[in-house]
Amino acid sequence: MPSFLLTLAALCQLLLAAHALRQGDWSLCAALGALALAVPARLGALRLVLAASLLLGAAHWAVAGASLVQMRLAFGEPWLRLALILAALCAASLGAGLWLLGERAGAAFHRQRGAEGTQAAAFLLTAGLLALARAKASVPVLLADRFLPGAGWLEVLVLGVYAGWLAGRMLDARQHKLLRPRIWALFSAVFFGQLALGLAGAHDLLMTGKLHLPVPALIVAGPLFRGGGLFMPILFSATVLLVGPAWCSHLCYIGAWDDRCARLGPKAPRVLPRRWTIGGRLATLLLVCGGALGLRLLNAPPELAAALAAGFGLAGVGVMVLVSRRLGAMAHCTAFCPIGLVGNLLGRLMPWRLRIDLATCTRCGACARACRYCALAAPEIEAGRPGLSCTLCGDCVGACPHDSMHYSFPGLSPSVARALFLILVSALHAVFLGVARI
Ligand code: SF4
Ligand code: SF4
Repeated sequence: MPSFLLTLAALCQLLLAAHALRQGDWSLCAALGALALAVPARLGALRLVLAASLLLGAAHWAVAGASLVQMRLAFGEPWLRLALILAALCAASLGAGLWLLGERAGAAFHRQRGAEGTQAAAFLLTAGLLALARAKASVPVLLADRFLPGAGWLEVLVLGVYAGWLAGRMLDARQHKLLRPRIWALFSAVFFGQLALGLAGAHDLLMTGKLHLPVPALIVAGPLFRGGGLFMPILFSATVLLVGPAWCSHLCYIGAWDDRCARLGPKAPRVLPRRWTIGGRLATLLLVCGGALGLRLLNAPPELAAALAAGFGLAGVGVMVLVSRRLGAMAHCTAFCPIGLVGNLLGRLMPWRLRIDLATCTRCGACARACRYCALAAPEIEAGRPGLSCTLCGDCVGACPHDSMHYSFPGLSPSVARALFLILVSALHAVFLGVARI
């Protein structure tokens, strides 16, 4: 019986692929077909992805069938055979999709250390966000579409699989600690690599060609000076809404440099005092906001504003190279970058938190030695919660030998909260890899 239903599921998926080809969308056909052809591998995450695809397919057959029948009725053409065929397709897709969600189908697929739900959710979220960006943007946002028109669904598939793989691997806290700096550096390298190649003449690697400086402080200062251009503040706020302050540990194209510099320093980072992590960033926040408004009121030329912004960005790089490297702590992000403070403060409005289970914590300090964001001094450990500068990076979770560090979210157990956080952050990382360019 499972073999018959597996074959039915694969066939229904192939029919969806064929339908996409008939509509002229060859890359959607290839992506849907690839999911069907992967069925023999019986990967646990594929079961849930396939179920979602077939249930969406069933809805599509129902809607398309209803409108085709209405059209035929309006023109007085025969419609019964068409209605029966589409109803059968809808019923088969619906049945196969629902079966795939059940326990019996679960037994027919390989379990992947219980990670299949996390992997499938990261895949589906990534694919959904990229499909939305692709449909809504006025320019082709995916590189595949630029170099091979219409090929975007293949990039969606690849990035979705990547997000699923990543979320599954990072469920292991030690893997999260190892992988996070690597994928963050990868994102920064891809972002700046595209910018460099775009400026060198490969214009397809730029988003719109309207250049702006990649200095995080400009997320707030740019709109204040220009009196508009809210794309970056909206993007930043949306990520804070989803994953709290994790922009500054997983997503920022500059923060990855500070992480690199800090890792070149001592293994046990110095904890910067609050007057720096709060006072230092408050001062730079007031400086850049006041400076941007002042330049606007004075009608300063954009070239002058850009030169000052570049100077601020270079000063930040100086902090990374000279201070972060010496202290082993991310001095740029925790004491210099105003956006870091904005992220920390706005992040507090969101329910994501890191908590220390004081009943099992032995105060060994392993978490403090892993935290490069100056959020875990002795008083914070005693209080069972990291300081304001915590960015939910997760390094302390993988470092604690007693499993005493937990992600928390109201109403969810620590393991479910962490899985949800990893789904969101993996999907955002994959989406940023696909669409973040200047
Ligand atoms: S503190 Fe600034 S540079 Fe560092 S990660 Fe956050 S936004 Fe980026
Ligand atoms: S307290 Fe933990 S999660 Fe927060 S910044 Fe420090 S190491 Fe990262």
